Amino acid sequence: MPQSAAALSAAQIAELHALLTAPVTSFDCGTLCAPGNGGVPVCCQNHTIMPVLYAAEFALLERRSRMWTRYVPQNEGERELAAELRPCELFATCKGAAHCEREHRALSCRTFPFEPYLAHDDTLCGLVFAWDLAALCPLIGSGHRIEPRFLEQTLTAFTKLFAWAPDELELWRGNSRTLRRSFARSAARISVYRPDGVFAFPTARRTWRDEVRDGRLPGPWPGADAARR
Ligand code: SF4
Ligand code: SF4
Repeated sequence: MPQSAAALSAAQIAELHALLTAPVTSFDCGTLCAPGNGGVPVCCQNHTIMPVLYAAEFALLERRSRMWTRYVPQNEGERELAAELRPCELFATCKGAAHCEREHRALSCRTFPFEPYLAHDDTLCGLVFAWDLAALCPLIGSGHRIEPRFLEQTLTAFTKLFAWAPDELELWRGNSRTLRRSFARSAARISVYRPDGVFAFPTARRTWRDEVRDGRLPGPWPGADAARR
């Protein structure tokens, strides 16, 4: 039954965690950023990229491990960021890369640096880089091969999440529109990643519609229907 992200259950979070096991690349992409960051992967440096967890996820991980601590904002800037979080989310810090327990990573760790992309018809059609973090993560836009198993698992996870919590779909629908507006300013196409390839999606609705109709672009990710059942 549809619900909201605020009502995600521990079982649902655990199901997503169990699903999301594949690494994003076949090599340790920490080798791209850690050498220039004191040996620490940038996305594991909490004060640089603060992890956001669902409240239900934090509660589950807190029961299972001592790796996560709820983070209390320390200054005005952090309080402003925290104020933008939804009621279903919170900031948390982990013990750091040297003490990472892979089985207790958060959803945000397991899907980074990708986000779901919804096409003009609001269907999930692939993943896109989290471009707002491009200055921090050298994998973003790098052209390195992304593991198909990672893409498949992440798309399946988002499909399940959207079926359980339609407000998450609303959130990413808005983010996908914002991304199109941003790319439209430079007339660039958006690289959309799927297990079956990387596709250059146009920002204009009519062009997108024509190219899907002609078979030059894929429609909704085919796993979407299967995962919804
Ligand atoms: S995802 Fe990006 S920031 Fe994280 S380890 Fe890989 S290259 Fe570094
Ligand atoms: S839990 Fe592990 S993967 Fe996630 S931010 Fe911490 S060290 Fe990195």
